Amino acid sequence: MSEILKTFNTIGDEELTAVSRVLKSGILSQFVGSDTKDFMGGAEVRQLEDICCEKFGVKHAVSVNSWTSGLICALGALDLEPGDEVIVPTWTMSASATSILHWNAIPVFCDIDPITFNIDVQCAENLIGPKTKAIMAVDIFGLPADWMKLEALCKRYNLKLIFDSAQSPGAMRQGEIAGTRGDIGGYSLNYHKHIHCGEGGLIFTDDAQLHERMCLIRNHAEAVIAKRPGASLNNMLGYNFRLGEIEAAIAKVQFTKLDDIISQRISAAEIISNELSDLPGLIIPPKEKETKHVYYVFGMLLENDLQTSRKDIITELNSEGIFGLMDGYANIHQLPMYQAKIAYGNGNFPWVIDGKASEVTYTKGICPVAELLHDRLFLGFEMCKYQLDEQDIEKFINVFREVWYRVT
Ligand SMILES: *Cc1c(COP(=O)(O)O)cnc(C)c1O
Repeated sequence: MSEILKTFNTIGDEELTAVSRVLKSGILSQFVGSDTKDFMGGAEVRQLEDICCEKFGVKHAVSVNSWTSGLICALGALDLEPGDEVIVPTWTMSASATSILHWNAIPVFCDIDPITFNIDVQCAENLIGPKTKAIMAVDIFGLPADWMKLEALCKRYNLKLIFDSAQSPGAMRQGEIAGTRGDIGGYSLNYHKHIHCGEGGLIFTDDAQLHERMCLIRNHAEAVIAKRPGASLNNMLGYNFRLGEIEAAIAKVQFTKLDDIISQRISAAEIISNELSDLPGLIIPPKEKETKHVYYVFGMLLENDLQTSRKDIITELNSEGIFGLMDGYANIHQLPMYQAKIAYGNGNFPWVIDGKASEVTYTKGICPVAELLHDRLFLGFEMCKYQLDEQDIEKFINVFREVWYRVT
């Protein structure tokens, strides 16, 4: 059966106006990869960065052509050495981990909390060793990770802290906005996220030096840094991660819509939580105190002893026209690249450097919670894809309840 819920479109006339303004100007990008005033780009990207500083209360914002690029800038800014280790939850999108490998550092995968699906801070502490230089926390599905505990942990062990808040623009925990804590954080603006400009990303930091290093990596660092005597050369291998003026103009408008979009998601999620909470065998994780979850994904769990398989439930929902369901999420440590430890050439670099092998392992069993949830128990609903007005919320709930009682 075809989909019965309306898909969501965040783009409207306001974006059209913004795009035609840029097109008429003839300047579709004003970046130059040399130490001139245009090193920081044109009017639209600069305005976008200023708007984000103001809106999210950060000192510096760097626009980039994707959040994958943003993560590469962030990791590059940290002064990592080849073979250094960065702890990252295994429940994330693959780019969180590859951004670490881009600087020849080694991702160490951490288990997740079964209620929040975010990094388990105690597990992270257990993974800290002499080579650990940073933790990357991921604000998964719209809920910020526990920044307070993570900041305390990183302070205790003298580690850098990065937040991958790609899925959580505008989310909050204990009065702080996702992506604004730790050393560096930021958002994705790809088509599949809450708001988008096609492809794009925004990096945030309060640290002037990290800001400068990220701007350099964004825009051909090695060609620019000659004019900055005394600047560190470590990881100043530049890219072209520059965002275009058209995308920046769209993103400016999208940020004005963000608050409305997420409040709609939050009210839809509250109704769905209430209406599904009595289903036997289904667990809806309780809402955490002092958090604003923005529901990129609505996460549910099957009870461990439920007899019906997740696959059968999803097949039945699909046949009734409800799609956007996720049978598990990710176990990045299980991907072939990590199993084979092959990234650059065939010599296992950076897991083997100068004949010396790292002790980091990716065997099944290292992240038992993430594995169980991925393999059997997690059932997600990609809320972000859908409009979810009143009628569609009702359709979703009615079909879900009917199917649940029929198949379980
Ligand atoms: C989407 C996403 C990314 C990558 O963002 P892009 O803008 O697509 O490069 C990274 N991390 C997480 C958790 C994501 O959801």
